[in-house]
Amino acid sequence: MAKDVNLTRQLKHYFGFDKFKGDQEAIIQNLMSGHDTFVLMPTGGGKSLCYQLPSLLMEGTAIVISPLIALMKNQVDVINGLSEETGVAHYLNSSLNKAAVQQVMDDIRSGRTKLLYVAPESLNKEESIDFLKSVKISFYAIDEAHCISEWGHDFRPEYRNIRPTINKIGDAPVIALTATATDKVRSDIKKSLAIIDAKEFKSSFNRPNLYYEVRQKSDEVDKQIIKFIRQHEGKSGIIYCLSRKKVEELSEVLKANEIKAAPYHAGLDSATRSQTQDDFLMERIDVIVATIAFGMGIDKPDVRFVIHYDIPKSLEGYYQETGRAGRDGGEGLCIAFYAQKDLKKLEKFMEGKPVAEQDIGRQLLQETAAYATSSVCRRKMLLHYFGEEYTQDNCHNCDNCLHPKEKIEAGKALLIV
Ligand code: ADP
Ligand code: MG
Repeated sequence: MAKDVNLTRQLKHYFGFDKFKGDQEAIIQNLMSGHDTFVLMPTGGGKSLCYQLPSLLMEGTAIVISPLIALMKNQVDVINGLSEETGVAHYLNSSLNKAAVQQVMDDIRSGRTKLLYVAPESLNKEESIDFLKSVKISFYAIDEAHCISEWGHDFRPEYRNIRPTINKIGDAPVIALTATATDKVRSDIKKSLAIIDAKEFKSSFNRPNLYYEVRQKSDEVDKQIIKFIRQHEGKSGIIYCLSRKKVEELSEVLKANEIKAAPYHAGLDSATRSQTQDDFLMERIDVIVATIAFGMGIDKPDVRFVIHYDIPKSLEGYYQETGRAGRDGGEGLCIAFYAQKDLKKLEKFMEGKPVAEQDIGRQLLQETAAYATSSVCRRKMLLHYFGEEYTQDNCHNCDNCLHPKEKIEAGKALLIV
């Protein structure tokens, strides 16, 4: 059928790209033929286009559920920038006033709006449901779908209500997208969205350009980090710490050492945070010291290093955070500092929490500790965590492959004796 040719032409027409990346075309065809679709693709793989292009080609408005207001605004600006017409994309969230909401509704009713970005809590509102019931919905896209799962790294309770809300508004195909590929998260997403039969498109999660290293954390950690940054002067990097206090402290230490650094965490007001983010994007600062509040949706292609000052709470989170390095395919150095002491501290934090949550938390933490203390190829371990088998003996881009620890093989040891 001429359908394929057509899609490529539409891709060029709307986005200016010559060809599809990875499974994009097959994904779009599956969705456009009315089937539920599940996309597992690492960060930077090109997930947005999998719903943006079909929304422009299909009748009605596509509802895109996305967790962050900043992300929505950015994507809406991009889509509207592609077209001469106004109101092709809109967002609906708590930042809009009454008049703005009215404009959005008018545009949707007129049929010109092809994409409506909503935060799940706005979608769940009675007014939204009543209004959306009365218009044609082409499909529902659930971006960052791992937010549904407590096994993911960014659980949002409101994401649990998506299926009931869809049922109230009116059924249409669902496309769920995430860069999280663990089995538990995958099955939670399918169950919660009731898309058990969705066709799955999973691409490889290997990022060959990322270098992984784990260092034993000592009292010299600050010094080591300063030395590392000096060796990579002028390069952009992110340093993740677990607590806001540590973020502030480390950022001060770096500044005192004439490194252009700034702190970022959820305790800072939003103006400061967006200023810091801009400064980083515009390279007025080199290093962001942050809690995990920093990163989702930040598309700086040339982040050259991601350092974990403290052991991350899960390997899943670790993979996502390191994934922000080297999005352009260039160098990305990912260094994690590990201390047994930190592990104990994290376990202690969990004690006050509900038992089920503690169990999940402990298990995730143990997997991270196993990763940190292993002498197996880091890439192999990370990919294994995502259910992917890495078959090469040596990845040539992690500490364990480049500097193998001495392995004492039982058989050989016996022979020597
Ligand atoms: P993800 O959501 O999977 O992290 P994005 O949707 O943000 O990824 O896309 C990452 C980058 O890839 C964007 O800069 C986007 O413009 C680009 N991109 C997507 N599809 C294509 C394509 N077919 N050809 C070239 N670039 C693409
Ligand atoms: Mg995305």
